[in-house]
Amino acid sequence: MQSVTPNPDVAQVESLAHTKVADCYQCGKCSAGCPQVERMDVMPSSIIRLVQLGCVEEAAAAESVWQCLNCLTCSTRCPKSVNIAGVMDALKEISIEKKCVHPKQKRTLAFQRSFLNAVKRNGRTNEIEMVAEYKIRGFLNDFNPLLVLKDADLGLPMFKRGKLHLKAGSPVKDKALVKRIFAKCSAE
Ligand code: SF4
Ligand code: SF4
Repeated sequence: MQSVTPNPDVAQVESLAHTKVADCYQCGKCSAGCPQVERMDVMPSSIIRLVQLGCVEEAAAAESVWQCLNCLTCSTRCPKSVNIAGVMDALKEISIEKKCVHPKQKRTLAFQRSFLNAVKRNGRTNEIEMVAEYKIRGFLNDFNPLLVLKDADLGLPMFKRGKLHLKAGSPVKDKALVKRIFAKCSAE
């Protein structure tokens, strides 16, 4: 019997998501329960189908990948235990690697990077520092000056409610531990 060579892109998704996409039989339960499905350009079950067919880059370029909230509803509903949320996460990584992040979701990526960089630096976030980095990254992305002002009206009410801290908080005591966590995640 002739052996079938596994598609390396599909293997990468399966390895990152710790799941077997071939197990999906397209029942649609994942899409039916997804709270974000109405906003998505490609439904979660169709994303899985694209990966099954080896169209990984096409799946990674979908806007849905970055609209996914990682709420895990799909993964818990799946009768075949396919980790759809894990596949969405894997496709996020692949979309960065292959530089095919959906154009409308580049700000989401800028926000995630700013958040993670703040945690990497201090072990915790500082809103002002994070928002400043996000605005700079977002602006350099599309040169839209409106981003700088976007949500500015929320600043004062948030500050009054003690939700916005102007002074950077002290970093966590064990910054070396934070460094090790990031190094381990990057290595994996
Ligand atoms: S719920 Fe599972 S089996 Fe059904 S379409 Fe989604 S991934 Fe496939
Ligand atoms: S994890 Fe993502 S794809 Fe799955 S149900 Fe939640 S939002 Fe939808």
